[in-house]
Amino acid sequence: MADRSATPQSQPTVHGYPRQGPGRELKKAVEGYWAGRTSAADLHSTAAGLRRDAWQQLADAGIREVPTGSFSLYDHVLDAAVMVGAIPERHRAAVHADQLDGYFAMARGTEDAAPLEMTKWFDTNYHYLVPELRPDTVFTATSRGPVEECREAVALGHSVRPVLVGPVTFLLLAKAAPGVADGFEPITLVDRLLPVYAEILSDLRAAGADWVQLDEPALVQDQTPAVLNTAARVYRELGALTDRPKLLVASYFDRLGEALPVLAHAPVDGLALDFTGPAAANLADLAAAGGLPGKRLIAGVVDGRNVWINDLERSLSTLATLLGLADRVDVAPSCSLLHVPLDAAVERDVDPQVARWLAFARQKTAETVTLATALTRGADAVAPQLAASRAALASRSASALTRDPAVRARCAAVTPEQARRPEPYAERTSAQRARLGLPPLPTTTIGSFPQTTELRTARADLRAGRIDGAAYDERIAAEIREVIAFQEKAGLDVLVHGEPERNDMVQYFAEQLTGYLATRHGWVQSYGTRYVRPPILAGDVSRPEPMTVRWTSYAQSLTDRPVKGMLTGPVTMLAWSFVRDDQPLADTARQVALALRDEVTDLEAAGTAVIQVDEPALRETLPLRSADRSSYLAWATEAFRLATSGVRAETQIHTHMCYAEFGAILAAIDDLDADVISLEAARSHMQIADELATAGYPREVGPGVYDIHSPRIPAEREITDLIDRALRTVPADRLWINPDCGLKTRTAAEVRPALENLVAAARRIRN
Ligand code: GLN
Ligand code: ZN
Repeated sequence: MADRSATPQSQPTVHGYPRQGPGRELKKAVEGYWAGRTSAADLHSTAAGLRRDAWQQLADAGIREVPTGSFSLYDHVLDAAVMVGAIPERHRAAVHADQLDGYFAMARGTEDAAPLEMTKWFDTNYHYLVPELRPDTVFTATSRGPVEECREAVALGHSVRPVLVGPVTFLLLAKAAPGVADGFEPITLVDRLLPVYAEILSDLRAAGADWVQLDEPALVQDQTPAVLNTAARVYRELGALTDRPKLLVASYFDRLGEALPVLAHAPVDGLALDFTGPAAANLADLAAAGGLPGKRLIAGVVDGRNVWINDLERSLSTLATLLGLADRVDVAPSCSLLHVPLDAAVERDVDPQVARWLAFARQKTAETVTLATALTRGADAVAPQLAASRAALASRSASALTRDPAVRARCAAVTPEQARRPEPYAERTSAQRARLGLPPLPTTTIGSFPQTTELRTARADLRAGRIDGAAYDERIAAEIREVIAFQEKAGLDVLVHGEPERNDMVQYFAEQLTGYLATRHGWVQSYGTRYVRPPILAGDVSRPEPMTVRWTSYAQSLTDRPVKGMLTGPVTMLAWSFVRDDQPLADTARQVALALRDEVTDLEAAGTAVIQVDEPALRETLPLRSADRSSYLAWATEAFRLATSGVRAETQIHTHMCYAEFGAILAAIDDLDADVISLEAARSHMQIADELATAGYPREVGPGVYDIHSPRIPAEREITDLIDRALRTVPADRLWINPDCGLKTRTAAEVRPALENLVAAARRIRN
């Protein structure tokens, strides 16, 4: 037993760590297992090796209490569902036959059982599987996974803090199983769920856990008093258990607000709070609530979601304030490090001047340790680290990359008129109709056509030097010729070039804009075995050269029908990148908007009559707390209008959004002032068309009539039904006919007949 004086006052810790391993070993192992190349035993041993290495890395860095349970073969919410036995009827046989295969069946579906639905984990780019519950769901401790993992770490000599999705968040994230009557709220099952948590908590304690962390990020969202009461009751009951470890309730991504006093007064032993970004408000709220006397506080002062070095001195001053508010203050990143890449030190291509501003999971762990050391032994004990941090921050704010005078002057000079199209919509629409001469119910697509293996091979060949730029360009040109020829033959009215030159709708532009960096190894988990490498928006943004004019003009040269220009909007350019944290998002969005405005006007000058600016991320970036939403929507819609308002009346601006649930942002959709908007609607049976009509949406809309997420080819009849459905609320002279989203993930064999049916359906209704 260590004596008291040897126990530091403040410990560094983390809530979770990247799962994939330095070379994305987990992805390879899981996909190898799915493909039948490796056995379940191989998969389990690779996974155990990755956990062992991650824990060791944390321990070597100075983390004395390592998290277990934050690792997952696919998704931690799915793990929680299996842990408590929330297994949909349709997957039960598979799970009973083989727990691993059953687990993957829930994640990915099988021939005859659909997978769980997938959705975004709060406002991050991580996606979790949505547990399905029914009024008669019976919970049982089904998987011993969390307990085994705890034992595994203890056996390796670590002191552990198992991390579980908390019961309130689990129920709030769950949805009613298909077929359950409306009105069922999973949170009403709480009394049946708690005994299972109690059992697992007791098992974890027996396995060697002094502390267990229950993650309750759902409590940073606006919740009703009834939910807050439930949360209070849950933690009163769990706190009253006699055979339990110490309980730490963690929240992150925003402030706890009205849930803070609830948790602060609960009979649990500690809280983990986020003190970064909008969650910094937790500091004042905690003081107002009287602090956490007698409790442990884990202070999330290192932003766990961005890739930037911490301002150590500022964090230390936050921590100094917190010292007076809790019994013990430990230091951590704000949330699991799952959301950042593993190690900035392996990025050899990044300019060393910029590389020193970067902190990925490993570097954030080291910062956390530095801060805890400073708290325990005084700032002098970490003087070299503080000096290095100060110097790096100073170099960042003085750098030509982050301070481009031309960009800054242009942003400062933006006038409200620039973010408004000069002519009212009525005037624009008649000018556009006269110019385009489209039939009623015009048909179009959302932009991309199938990304064929040949295209991917061509890109790989170009990168590897097997073909030169000219040969690559010829392959792109050939693809565009084919896509245009098909669309003409199929009879579409507004054509696209098919985006064959784009690897990704954000990366393609990031590579051409000044201010963005690319990483080589900066992978983060998007869902399951899908990892993405988001670009890093590090500096002031400008557009040195036109980005899309060449291929758009080439496509237009092949046809008399209008070809739509295709761009990614400013909000999406931010949302799917790691964005600089040294200025407000609104300022960064304005810079991107101006760069896009240059592109829009160049496209117009090149003769493009229709320009689409995609904003699929507008809805998903909505702040978690409703109080923060109006200011977000104000700058977000202004950025879109700034990008698109530099054109003449007869140039038609389209936008596109997907991922449903537009209800919360109907006013913002109107505020974009786009001439035409296309939206995902096929699966929700045109619900959005009704919502827009009810809201009095005045411009043209294309609610999707072809669900591109499914390989199914919709019959003409199905499409005419959906068009008829839309026509009940959208006037015929304002309705466009298009698929739900881009076609890049589909095959040509699926897309071609589907589009032919779409055109046939539109023609039938026109007649
Ligand atoms: N224009 C893009 C495409 O068709 C839009 C993609 C999206 O909405 N996510 O691929
Ligand atoms: Zn889309």
